Amino acid sequence: MDPDDILAIDQAHAWHPYTSTLDRDPVYPVRSAHGCRIELMDGRSLIDGMASWWCAIHGYNHPALNQAAREQLDQMAHVMFGGLTHEPAMRLVRSLVALTPEPLQHVFLCDSGSVAVEVAIKMALQFWISAGRPERHRLLTIRSGYHGDTFNAMSVCDPVTGMHHLFNRVLPQQIFAPAPGCRFGEPCTDADIAPFAELIERHQHELAAVILEPIVQGAGGMRFYSAEYLQQVRALCDQFDVLLIADEIATGFGRTGRLFACEHAGIAPDILTLGKALTGGYLTLAATLASRRVAHGISSGAPGVFMHGPTFMGNPLACAIANASIELLLAQDWAANIQRLERGLTAGLAPCRGQSGVADVRVLGGIGVVEMERPVPMREIQRRLVDSGVWVRPFGRLVYLMPPYVISDAELTQLCAAVVEVIAGRSGF
Ligand SMILES: *Cc1c(COP(=O)(O)O)cnc(C)c1O
Repeated sequence: MDPDDILAIDQAHAWHPYTSTLDRDPVYPVRSAHGCRIELMDGRSLIDGMASWWCAIHGYNHPALNQAAREQLDQMAHVMFGGLTHEPAMRLVRSLVALTPEPLQHVFLCDSGSVAVEVAIKMALQFWISAGRPERHRLLTIRSGYHGDTFNAMSVCDPVTGMHHLFNRVLPQQIFAPAPGCRFGEPCTDADIAPFAELIERHQHELAAVILEPIVQGAGGMRFYSAEYLQQVRALCDQFDVLLIADEIATGFGRTGRLFACEHAGIAPDILTLGKALTGGYLTLAATLASRRVAHGISSGAPGVFMHGPTFMGNPLACAIANASIELLLAQDWAANIQRLERGLTAGLAPCRGQSGVADVRVLGGIGVVEMERPVPMREIQRRLVDSGVWVRPFGRLVYLMPPYVISDAELTQLCAAVVEVIAGRSGF
């Protein structure tokens, strides 16, 4: 197909994330992608600043991941997971158990991040049903969170920037503490944790779990908060016997400078969700890990089984690529590499600090954020960024970068410079 055919079909029939079929956002046809580059069909080569929404940590078209996919294809692309098992899934299950905190011993493989969150919430609810405490069915979370687009996941997304007003009649009503005010690297004072502490105490009898993104709140505002806050949340969950669900779908696999963001606080959740970078951005796959206590609690009550089972559960192709991606990550000094990204993003975005219209500039690990005072005009800024040779997709007031880990120093400099230039040269935002 030539680019015009692609655009015509796209325009007539394709729905993109969060878009209208009437007022179309521009889209850019892609021919291929390699390493840290996205090649457009018009011949332009863009430096990727998004890792395709946290996923493509090793860059695109990686030989090791390609080879893992090919080898697995020759064995089997898929078999059902009901009653059958296989090496790709068992290798993955074994490494996820080994890499995550000790209490997490039971792995539920599923299709996507949102499904992993649904599974995590269902586990928490079923745990309390099994324990004879069905009234423990609500969730406590913090504002500015993002946990996915399915209904239970939406119910714990930020109530203002999320979709609560639209779906209010059907969404479960959850409990929201303010977003943590203490920033990453800062202490968490009694005043910082007080609103959360007050809510967990007041609602303990009806709470199944607390759910939050540890340390980095992603799509809900790209906020980095104090590790001490997370430690206090863990302590309060223990005190009031409320389960803790850590959603590491965005933060997992090194992005924040630790393999998992919970490690910044040295805490273990009762339930953990993983996704996004799990397959290095090749295929959709996610996992929900549960502690022995949660898994055995569910299994010892009625009906005695966990009530979930996706068709594509444990897909061998996705698992084989995930195994190759994890192996590739662990075979290198990934932590030093993330520090390199952190230094590059810090230096590269520094010129935005103090510019008019810029509210904040912050960097953690491989994540760089320029927060504006007002929402940016996405189509215009997107076009200007593409014209400067980079792929960055701002949303709301946020222009943010989370490049593939393989980005070179020169590419990182160029990526940041394009953002600095577009922000400095902007008109009307
Ligand atoms: C992206 C994301 C999800 C949802 O994952 P999908 O694969 O898009 O369904 C859930 N939680 C967090 C923290 C995420 O960043």
